[in-house]
Order: sequence, then structure tokens, then C-alpha cells
Amino acid sequence: MRVNYNYLGDEFKNPESIIKDWRKLIRSTDFTLGKYIDKFEKTFAKYIGSKYCISTNNGTDALILCLKALGLQKGDEVITVCNSFYASAGAIAEVGAKPVFCDSDERYQINIEDLKRKITKKTKAIMPVHWGGASPEIKKIVKICKENNLNIVEDACMGIGAKVENKSPGTFGIINAFSMHPLKSLNVMGDGGAVVTNDKELFDWAKKHRNHGMVNRDNIEFWGVNNRMQPLQAIVAMHGLKKLDLVIKKRTYNASYLDKHLSIKELKKFINIPSRMKNCQETFALYMITCKYRDKLKKFLEKNKIEVKIHYPKPLHLQKPAIKMGYKKGDFPIAELQARTLLTLPVHQFLTKNQLKFMVSKIKEFYSVV
Ligand SMILES: *Cc1c(COP(=O)(O)O)cnc(C)c1O
Repeated sequence: MRVNYNYLGDEFKNPESIIKDWRKLIRSTDFTLGKYIDKFEKTFAKYIGSKYCISTNNGTDALILCLKALGLQKGDEVITVCNSFYASAGAIAEVGAKPVFCDSDERYQINIEDLKRKITKKTKAIMPVHWGGASPEIKKIVKICKENNLNIVEDACMGIGAKVENKSPGTFGIINAFSMHPLKSLNVMGDGGAVVTNDKELFDWAKKHRNHGMVNRDNIEFWGVNNRMQPLQAIVAMHGLKKLDLVIKKRTYNASYLDKHLSIKELKKFINIPSRMKNCQETFALYMITCKYRDKLKKFLEKNKIEVKIHYPKPLHLQKPAIKMGYKKGDFPIAELQARTLLTLPVHQFLTKNQLKFMVSKIKEFYSVV
């Protein structure tokens, strides 16, 4: 038996309905912005439960657009977590601000206690990440930010379809970003992103900035950029949104199966599964565990044709640009230990029960647990 990590071929096995809509788009020649983009933005805002949406070319530019809309610049500090994707810190650096890292917690999310310690006079915003499609303790973060008069920009790139007590990621911060990259919960067959906000002023600015600062064909209000999403992708997103809740349901089922069978007493001393927050829905963009003898287990599983990953073996603060800023090994012991022991298992919606069983049995075999 084989267990692939990559499921993208399965996801678009029958692209006929998408191609049908693409044909309509081609006939309409609405190739930049236009009605397909408008429709997606309205639908997405409603899905998230936010007033406004601005679609963008990718999640990284969505994050940059959020930070620029808040007027962040050189000398400002933005706090984020050291175990995220490069883009969280890259977006902060891109607007000239300084990424200030904090440690993770036992659920691989931003560590609230460390976050509090990192707030200084220069802190202008907090960027919590919905890492792996799970959510940090976002309500606590909202409270801390209120007390310190700080804005929140959520990096909800992996969080489309997640919930924190019936509220979606992207509804806690003042202006927030999503990604529709192929490996996120809403896959648009390429790059795509979105910014959401309830703030009319931020919305108006960001919408103009995305499109050269234009107010009409012949006039701009300020210098802007081109961050537009492609209508081809907006159509894929509309199709994906219809299926998204089902996809997440299937992933949640798979994750519960793995949670249950990997948390048995005999495996406790080898494997640690993060606790799941009550009344929250994760997207399970990533299914992560920490485990003993990680590298050996990874090799063993790969030898048995089970594809696994590590997200990531090196936290952001140990990457070259962070080292140059003065960060060093030992700064974030929790995240560093996780980086040495984390393993991401396949959890995608096309896994069969037999594949799940096979994965569990091979992990048990590795630890000599029967
Ligand atoms: C994917 C991702 C991004 C970047 O999104 P892109 O669409 O790939 O630019 C940013 N932050 C996190 C946490 C992500 O997972």
C-alpha cells in the first residue's frame, strides 16, 4: 500500500464544471477584476462573516496589504510566532517593520505568555498565525491587544473554513489575510489570496492600493501596486467554496481517527498529540504530532511508502535573516524542541480507512507496540 501526502491530482480529477465556467469567462473577456472577482469577493466575505473582502494574487501579498493599510513602517515592531511559514515574517520585513518573534505553545500556536513579554513601546501590531489550520488562543490575544491598544492582523492563511466558537479566523483582527495556495484548505489551482476587514476606511484604501491607487481609469489617489487576483482563480475558488465544508469534515474525521489510535496508552511515551480546543473547528491543513526518534520514524515510514513531512525543521528565528537580527539557538526552547520532534502525517480528504489503518499499524510497528 502507498500513502501519498500529495492529493492535488485527485482534487481536480474532474475539472469539467470549472472548465465550463472558464469558457464563460473567456467569452466575457473579463480578464482583470470584473464580475467574476466581484462575485467571489462578496461570496467570500459572507462565508467568513466579514463585511468586506479584497481578493489578491497570493497570501503573502494579502499580509503585506494588511500591514500597509495600517500604515506600518520602519521602526515599528510587529510580534509574530517563530514557528510559522516564512511569509509571516517576510511580510513584516517587506513593509520595513521589524518582526519580533515569540515562542510557540504545546499546540504549536503563538505562546501567549511570551507574547505579553515581547510587547514594547515600539510594538504596533500583533500577527497571530492560525498555524496548521488550528487557532491560537485568539480571544486572549484580543484582550491583550485591547489592553495595550494594539492592532491584530491575523495570518489566517491556513484557516479558511476553521472556526473559533462559531466565528471564523479573519474576524478577530482589524484587517486579516488568507491564502488559497494549492496546499491550503481552499485550493485555486495556483496562487490566490484574500484580505478581509469590517473597517470601511481600511477596505477603501486596500482596495485602491491593490489596483495602482486608481479611483478611475484616468486618476489615481496615491501610488499603489498590482496585487489583483486572476478571474480564472476566482472561478476555481467559487467551486472550492461549495465543497469546502465537506473537505474539512473528511479531514476532521481522518484527524480524529489518528488522534484516537495514536494516543493509546502504549504509544504515550513516544508520541504527543496536541490538545484540541473545545468548540473550535480546525481545517487540518497540517496534521502534526511530536514524536521520539522522529528522523528514524520518518525514514521507516518513507521506506513503507508513507509520505510524511516536517513543518518545519528550522524555526523562523534560526533562519539567516533572523540570525542577522541577533536571534540565536536557545531563544525559543519550545519551538526548537518541536522543530526537532515534529512530524506531519497525511490527513487529506482522499485517504481511505485502509490507508489510515496502515499508517497507524506502521507507526506501532516502528515503536514495537502491538
Ligand atoms: C501559505 C502561508 C502563507 C503565504 O501564503 P501564499 O499564498 O503562499 O503567499 C503565509 N502564512 C502562512 C501561515 C501560510 O501557511
